[in-house]
Amino acid sequence: MAGYRGLIAVVYAIAAFGLIGRPGAPAAAEPHADYPVATDSRIGGDDNQIRFVMDFSRKVDLRAFTLADPYRVVVDLPQVVFNLPPKSGTHSRGLVKAFRFGLIMQGGSRIVFDLNKPARIDRAFSIDATAGQPARLVLDLVATDRESFMRTVARQSQPQPAATTGAIGRDPAAAPDDKAKPIVVLDPGHGGIDNGTVASTGVAEKSIVLDFALRLRERLERSGKYHVVMTRTDDTFIPLADRVRMARIRQAALFISIHADALKKGEGEAQGATVYTLSETASDAVAAQLAEDENRADIIAGIDLSHEPGDVADILIDLAQRETKSYSVHFAKSLVADMRKVARMHKHPMKSAGFRVLKAPDVPSVLIELGYVSSKDDLQHLTSDSWQDKTAAAINQAIDRYFAARVAGPATARTAR
Ligand code: ZN
Repeated sequence: MAGYRGLIAVVYAIAAFGLIGRPGAPAAAEPHADYPVATDSRIGGDDNQIRFVMDFSRKVDLRAFTLADPYRVVVDLPQVVFNLPPKSGTHSRGLVKAFRFGLIMQGGSRIVFDLNKPARIDRAFSIDATAGQPARLVLDLVATDRESFMRTVARQSQPQPAATTGAIGRDPAAAPDDKAKPIVVLDPGHGGIDNGTVASTGVAEKSIVLDFALRLRERLERSGKYHVVMTRTDDTFIPLADRVRMARIRQAALFISIHADALKKGEGEAQGATVYTLSETASDAVAAQLAEDENRADIIAGIDLSHEPGDVADILIDLAQRETKSYSVHFAKSLVADMRKVARMHKHPMKSAGFRVLKAPDVPSVLIELGYVSSKDDLQHLTSDSWQDKTAAAINQAIDRYFAARVAGPATARTAR
């Protein structure tokens, strides 16, 4: 009889998670039931060792590895739904400073732990649900020294994340009759595991900028003048280098990255939109800090940057880059002029800094910070349909003017600076 009671407990445990419908029902019958759901997490331990546990609706496969500078532990999972309590991962405990989680590509989710000091993965495993206990992921970390940590990182020689190659092929290739149209790449910042900045209302930059970019795409495509390529069309993480690569592979005529900024508490009030171009020297300290924040996307997602070829300095000495840069600056000026008619602009609306995403040497590129999610007024605009519509219209107008000038000849674009 004890066995029977145990079985009832298991059935209750499963039913409590509300996922698996009836036992024996095919999981594929409900699309939402396809993905395991993470429901809670716990960290116990101290500066020497930590045990991390995450509860799941069913057992998940995992792969764990470490990354250096900053010290991180990455746990790769199949695609799961993170349904964790708010603020999960934000508190420091012993070895672990914080952790993030989210989708990193279709079919793959990731948890990234920021460490307070080097640690080695002692054990990483999954266990099935038992009576009264959900399925769990368990990660044991033990403190180590930098030398051992670096040796482990070197030994892992992990393959490039699948997103690096998978993301490029995601957009369908340009149709033959689209060949004549200039290709405009729209790059909504962040995505998946990387939320970008998050407003006090809980709305994330990654959703605001995706909404806006989709709206702008719709408008540009409706005009029939452009072939628009998006670096992402859903809540997927795309590494920065892949965003640039997508523009270069398509030989895009223009690359527009879309973001929304935030000031940390105590840094004062700032409002309005800013347009950035690439520069090896930032136009001011705020621009430099912002570029550093935006460039952290890959670190947030636990991507090893050590294999990334080329540096901004190498590219900037290239002559091709100089011409591209003059086009970028010319377009940025147009953008500021057109956006100013409908949207509040920052008091210094044109700036430059070393954004990784603007580094294509042959594609004129700008990065638009639409406004500050930390400003109440800006946030209201950013999330309003009418503001998004008129701002997208202004950007569309600037794009039209830019290409009209380019058709007239490159000299026009250059002398117009
Ligand atoms: Zn951003």
